[in-house]
Order: sequence, then C-alpha cells, then structure tokens
Amino acid sequence: MSCDIGLYGLAVMGQNFALNMASHGFTVAVCNRSPSKVDTTVQRAKDEGDLPLIGTKSPEEFISKLSKPRKVVILVQAGKPVDLTIEAISEFMEEGDVIIDGGNEWFPNQIRRHEELEKKGIMFIGMGISGGEEGARNGPSLMPGGPRKAYDLIEPIIMKCAAKAGDPEEPCTGYCGPIGAGNYVKMVHNGIEYGDMQLIGEVYDILKNIVGMGNDEMATLFEDWNSGDLESYLIEITAKILARKDDLTDDGYVVDKILDKTGMKGTGRWTVQEAAEQSVAAPLIAASLDSRYISGRKEERVAASKVLQGPSNEMPQVDKDQILSDLQQALYCAKVTSYAQGMGIIQAASDKNEWDVDLSLCAKMWRGGCIIRASLLSKITAAFEKNKDLQNLLVDETFAEEINARQMAWRRVVSLGVASGIATPALSAALSYFDQYRRDRLPANLIQAQRDFFGGHTYNRVDRDGTFHCLWDETH
Ligand code: NAP
Repeated sequence: MSCDIGLYGLAVMGQNFALNMASHGFTVAVCNRSPSKVDTTVQRAKDEGDLPLIGTKSPEEFISKLSKPRKVVILVQAGKPVDLTIEAISEFMEEGDVIIDGGNEWFPNQIRRHEELEKKGIMFIGMGISGGEEGARNGPSLMPGGPRKAYDLIEPIIMKCAAKAGDPEEPCTGYCGPIGAGNYVKMVHNGIEYGDMQLIGEVYDILKNIVGMGNDEMATLFEDWNSGDLESYLIEITAKILARKDDLTDDGYVVDKILDKTGMKGTGRWTVQEAAEQSVAAPLIAASLDSRYISGRKEERVAASKVLQGPSNEMPQVDKDQILSDLQQALYCAKVTSYAQGMGIIQAASDKNEWDVDLSLCAKMWRGGCIIRASLLSKITAAFEKNKDLQNLLVDETFAEEINARQMAWRRVVSLGVASGIATPALSAALSYFDQYRRDRLPANLIQAQRDFFGGHTYNRVDRDGTFHCLWDETH
C-alpha cells in the first residue's frame, strides 16, 4: 500500500492524530522509536473500524511506504528528539517532500530546521496543535506555518482532520504564514490559555472565600454561565471539575484534595518573554505566569501564612446576586482584554518578521478543537474581519460598547478582592491595562522628567517639536 501521509511519534498526540487521519479515509503509515507503540496503534486502528493504517519499524521502511511527494508529520517530544527524528527520516526523503512538526516548539528552532532542510530541497512546516488527546483524535485546532507550496500539499488533509466550528461550519485551521508563524500563534494561544485559567481560578477564589459558596453551587453557576457570553471549554470543564466527588475517599470533592501548586511546560513563559521582546504589554498573561510561580512556592507560602496577615477587618458583607452578576461581567471584560493582549503580541511579531498573519484567521482557528475555544471567538473573528488593521481589540465598536457598559462590575470585583485580601492578579492587571490604554495622558511625563533629571535622557514637549533637556537643579 502506498500511503497518503506518514506519522512518526506515537505517544498520546501522535497515536490519536494518526487514527484521526485514517478515520477520514487517508492511508497512514506510522512509526515510533520504541516499536511497541507501533503495535498498539495498529491494533487500535483495527479495533476502531479497520482503519487504513500500517505499522513500520524503521525510518527506512516508514519512508518507503509513502507516496510522492512524501508528507510526514512528526509528533515526538519537542527539542532534541525532533532534530534526531528529522535526521533519521530525511536521509530517505528527497526534494519536494514535506516534513511537518506538530510539537509545541520554540519558533526559532523551526526556522533553523527549515533552513537546514531547505538545503536538501525538503520543505518544512511547523504546525501548532491544540486540543490534547481528545482533540488529536476527533479534531484539533491546527496552526501551520511554512512554505506556501508545502502547505498546499497538506491542506486537503488538515482541512478534513481539524475541528469544525461556526455557522456554517469551517475547519479550525488555515495558513498562518511562513515558517515560525504557526508555532508563534500556538505559543500565544497557550499564553491566552494561562490567562483564561487564572481568571477562572480567581473567580473561584472569590466565590469560595468571599461569597462562601460550596462546590455544587459553584458548579451550577459555571454551568449556567456556560450557556451565555462566557460559553467556553474551560468554563464547561470547570463546572464538571467542581461537581466531581472524590474517588479515593468517601468524603468531599476531588478539587479540594488537589495540592495548590500549578505545573507548566514553558509556553506561557515564552509568551511573556516574547511580549517583552516585541515591546507589547501583556500584563494579564504575565500575571498568570507569576501566579504559577507563586503557587509553586508552597512551603514558603505555608511559612509566610504564619507571619503575614491580611486585612484585619471581617470579610465585607456582599449582596450575593450583585457579586455573581459582577463576576460574570468582570470575567468577560478581562477575557476580551486577554485576547487584545495576545493578538497584540502576534501582530507585533508578524509585522517584525513580515509574516502577514491574519488575526481573524487566528480567532477562527481557535473556535473549535482547542483549549481556549469559546463563543467569544466568533465575535473576535468578526472584529478583525471588519477591520484588518484594528489596532487593539478593545477599540472595536462592539467590544468597546460592551466593556464601557460592564466596567463598573469589573471595578467592584477588583475592589472587593483588595478589601478582602483575596488576590485577583489577572483581573486587576487586565483592569489596569484597560485604564491605561483608554487614557490620552498618562503620568509618563513625570517619568520622562526623572529620566532627564538623573540621566540627561531628554524629552519631547507637547507644545513644540524637538528634543529638550532641562537643567533641573538650576532655579529660574
Ligand atoms: P511526548 O510525551 O511529548 O513525547 C513522547 C514521544 O516522543 C514518544 O513517541 C517518544 O518515543 C518520542 N521520543 C522521545 N525522545 C525521543 C528521541 N530521542 N528520539 C525519537 N523519539 C523520541 O508526546 P505527546 O504528549 O504525544 O506530545 C507530542 C508533541 O505534541 C510534543 O511536542 C507536545 O508538546 C505536543 N503537544 C502535546 C499535547 C498534549 O496534550 N500531550 C497537546 C498539544 C501539543 P518513545 O515511545 O520511543 O519513547
């Protein structure tokens, strides 16, 4: 059998994505460093309906099964394993073939691989994949970047295998731009994911520790929110998580037994680093990353909790209906701000690298299959479709109107957190961003004066052109 596509790397993602492609009628050859995973995948293909998939046990055999031009997706651990895999398979490939790395990879590595493979005439695509195990099997969000010619060769396959969303339904994939662009879009997707999760965590903290709600009641609330403006995968799973009883003991809920230390793999940190690199403010994503760092210092926090005190007053009395409505609105405003920041990072990198990334396509690709999928993304898609040069999502007419109308709820939530000693770093950072971005004059004039005072850095004036320096210590 001559196969349409090959997939190397059969851990969680690879195995499921191979079966996904085979389920859509593409013949797939698979291979993995440890041969046992090849057998498991072949067996799963049989069990799941005799899918057209064949197992191979060496790079040479693997490549020999592919029709030309050959197309190979790699889904191994990011970093060195990808380089080793490319080295092993490219030996048997030839000019015009395509390698697609689907890993969560630092984008400069993809640019380097592209340059190396280009010398052999092999085309390379870096394709961000989101959706975890379930998405890989049933339809992920796919964010490919690389030579257009290579993209055209894989487009018929990825269009069928990606998640579908919208009305009418569209595939959650598309051409992100040249090499690096796809991984960049995926990296920012993960940064936004950090933000969304942190925002929901802060709302949970307020509901639990200020409003005093129990897990079942919170689960019902999140379920309810999931049928409105906040409808999203993360809100949906939060409702399910809160309702889940503990399975190891007879008492309580799993969520209350989980240690409060957040793990991470690095894409959030890359997003914050990149925001700084592009001189784009992304305080909400940064606050989410910082919160993970602070959560990681559990032992230190336990010790500090014995020394440092919160506000001495009692928890403020709250009108429950009011605070629930405020939280819903605050969460919505902060989420829009988070997307504004994420899109700002992508736009800046796209301009700098001449990638020409289409922000409406990014929002469209994230509407299904991925972790940040949300009904809000249809509105974001529409905003960037309406105005390709939109400078900031917040100034889109629809979003500006919504946020202007909801801001008081957002302010009440942040104030309540401050008064109660319950930190809301992401909600607050988003609000500060909004309050800075919407003002035509900031206290930056004083900072410029200070810089000029101690360093002679000069400043511009509002009333005349030119560069000025003041002899600050001289009296007039
Ligand atoms: P993983 O745990 O990241 O990697 C395991 C795979 O890498 C196995 O197939 C393993 O082969 C192979 N591997 C490790 N070292 C190797 C080497 N030196 N040479 C050749 N192969 C090597 O797998 P995963 O979770 O399925 O993720 C694959 C990629 O998708 C990663 O880049 C990940 O970041 C990305 N991703 C993952 C998820 C997710 O939810 N898991 C979601 C989106 C994206 P052996 O079987 O021989 O050990």
